[in-house]
Amino acid sequence: MDKIAELEKLKLEVESDKRLPLLGSNLVFGEGDPNCDVLFIGEAPGFNEDQQRRPFVGRAGQLLRLNIRNLGWQEKEVYITNIVKRRPPENRDPLPEEIEAYKPYLARQIDIISPKIIIPLGRFSMNYFLPVAKITRDQGKLFKAGEYFIMPMLHPAAALRGNEMMRIFEETFKKLPAALQKVVSGGFDDNKEREAMRPSKEKRQEDVQKRLF
Ligand code: URA
Repeated sequence: MDKIAELEKLKLEVESDKRLPLLGSNLVFGEGDPNCDVLFIGEAPGFNEDQQRRPFVGRAGQLLRLNIRNLGWQEKEVYITNIVKRRPPENRDPLPEEIEAYKPYLARQIDIISPKIIIPLGRFSMNYFLPVAKITRDQGKLFKAGEYFIMPMLHPAAALRGNEMMRIFEETFKKLPAALQKVVSGGFDDNKEREAMRPSKEKRQEDVQKRLF
C-alpha cells in the first residue's frame, strides 16, 4: 500500500473510533505531501480549522504558511497536522487525557510519513517527543528522538503575541533548510558533532524518549 492509501485508511480508523474525546467537533486529520521531508505538528485545531477541516488555516496558520513559502517552499510539499485531531471547546489547551487518546494515531501517522525532520510547534507537541524540554530554551535546537530528528519551534500563535517572539519564530524558521540539509546528508553521523548539538539535559531525556518510540 502506498503512503496516501495508508493515511486514508488511518483517517477512516480515527473517524470510526467512537472512544476518542472531542467527538463533538470535526476531524482535522492533516494535509500535505505524505512523501514530504518536513512534518509540522501543532497542538489541536481551532475554530477555523474545525470549520474547514484543515490544519493551520486561521491567523496562526497563515503565519506558519507564510514562513514556509518565504523559504521558497510550497505548502503542499510539506505535511501539517496536530497531536489532538479535534477542536477542544473554546480553543482551550488540550487536556492530558485528550493528548493520550490521540497519541497512538499520531505515532502511526508519523511512521507512515517517515519524514526526514519533524517540527513540533509549541510545547504540547514538543513534549510528545522531548518530555522534559522547555520550549523557550530548546526551540531551534536539533534533537534525535528514537529514529526521528526533531527541531521544536515556538507555536505561531505565540509569535503573534509579541515582537520578540515573532523575531525568534522567524529566525528559527530560516534555520530549517540548513537543518534539513544536514540531516539528509548524514551530517550528524559524527558523534562529536551530535554531542555538541545536544542541550545538556538531552542525555537524560533520551532515556525517557526511548520509551516513546
Ligand atoms: N493551532 C494549532 O496548534 N493547530 C492548528 O491546526 C491551528 C492552530
